[in-house]
Amino acid sequence: MCRRLFAALLAALMLCAPALSEAAVMPFSQYADALAGLTGAAWTEDGSADLMAFPLGDADVYACLHDGNVVAVTVEAPRETAFDEEVDTAVRALGWLSDEGLSRLCALTEGEEIALEGCAAGRVGGETRVAVWICPEAERGALVWQPMHGGEKYHADPTCSGMDAPCLSTVAVAEMWGLEPCGRCMEQAGGGTEGEPTTN
Ligand SMILES: [Zn+2]
Repeated sequence: MCRRLFAALLAALMLCAPALSEAAVMPFSQYADALAGLTGAAWTEDGSADLMAFPLGDADVYACLHDGNVVAVTVEAPRETAFDEEVDTAVRALGWLSDEGLSRLCALTEGEEIALEGCAAGRVGGETRVAVWICPEAERGALVWQPMHGGEKYHADPTCSGMDAPCLSTVAVAEMWGLEPCGRCMEQAGGGTEGEPTTN
């Protein structure tokens, strides 16, 4: 009796607990198809097979992968460009946010970072470019910022060293790009080379 109750409780827990982050695991092939389906365009590798780029209007979409899954998406555009529509399309294809979540994502102000429907999301800016980013909340702590427009370091702080709208990335990808950990912000963040995204 007791055991059955326990089993029922456990089953109920397993039904409600899992895991927005589990729901958010998105194989890249699935994301690529979804975004290509919405836009009719194609993906290119950007420097390494684990950072895929997708031009979308005046914006660029970067998908950072770990073990074939998307762990972060950054959509960047020139500062003067309105790119809400591109952000909406790029993130809608992930299936991570509701319509309301997508509107909140597009309304973020520069420097803001929020928890949103099991994801972490924010908006970062540089001198000439801005970017909106999103990742599963569970992955946020393992991710770093890498410059896309010049720079030799990767960072824990998106505002460090004047990056021009950095891309949310993994240490593995940043190192594949030949980037080194920033002596300033990565050390404060605890080194950063230990963390690995949890998706597999
Ligand atoms: Zn730094």
